[in-house]
Amino acid sequence: MKVGIMGGTFDPIHYGHLLAAERAREACGLDEVWFIPSFQPPLKDNEPNADTNARLEMVYRAIDFQPHFRAMDIELERGGTSYSIDTVKSLQENYPGRTFSYIIGSDRVNDLPQWHRIEELARIVAFIGVERPGESIDVSSLPVYIQDRLTIIGMPLIDISSTEIRQRQADKRSIRFMVPEKVYSFIKRNALYEKPE
Ligand code: ATP
Ligand code: MG
Repeated sequence: MKVGIMGGTFDPIHYGHLLAAERAREACGLDEVWFIPSFQPPLKDNEPNADTNARLEMVYRAIDFQPHFRAMDIELERGGTSYSIDTVKSLQENYPGRTFSYIIGSDRVNDLPQWHRIEELARIVAFIGVERPGESIDVSSLPVYIQDRLTIIGMPLIDISSTEIRQRQADKRSIRFMVPEKVYSFIKRNALYEKPE
């Protein structure tokens, strides 16, 4: 069975994440995509804004009733810095018989050389890259051992980021249609990302 891993802070999850997962599933013949929210991503200095329960709940709401999508809380349960190498090793141990690929946007493709224990990671997972606006994928500048494990797939450029959603929400501008309806209602009901008056 082929599994795609969609990792991220999901603070909040938005349509860019969902379409990347769906296009990767289709293009690479993945049986499932597992959404794995990070507790603390290694290469981000700021802490997530919404708490772990809220970020996980938004992922559940976004993928509700999608038969090929699952959400897993293993990085949230583990705590500490969320290194992908630890996640993949634990998945391989707990779910034998699967092959795993990381689905990542262009910003993360370009910073692959900085990922923790990347040489070892690249031996045990493949990478599926999608373009996002603002930064194009520069395959030729990546080390060959990464290039060998990287497939770039097509996807319409979606100029949405969680940062922009948080900013818009703080500024009381609209975030409707940037996130699924059930995520939207959760953000509004819990007043996530709003600035204190
Ligand atoms: P933030 O602005 O807080 O960094 P983000 O929108 O970049 O949030 P992340 O949780 O950091 O979302 O990203 C998780 C993964 O999804 C990364 O691999 C990222 O490149 C990818 N991704 C995020 N947004 C898009 C998008 N609009 N199109 C394609 N891939 C995306
Ligand atoms: Mg990001």
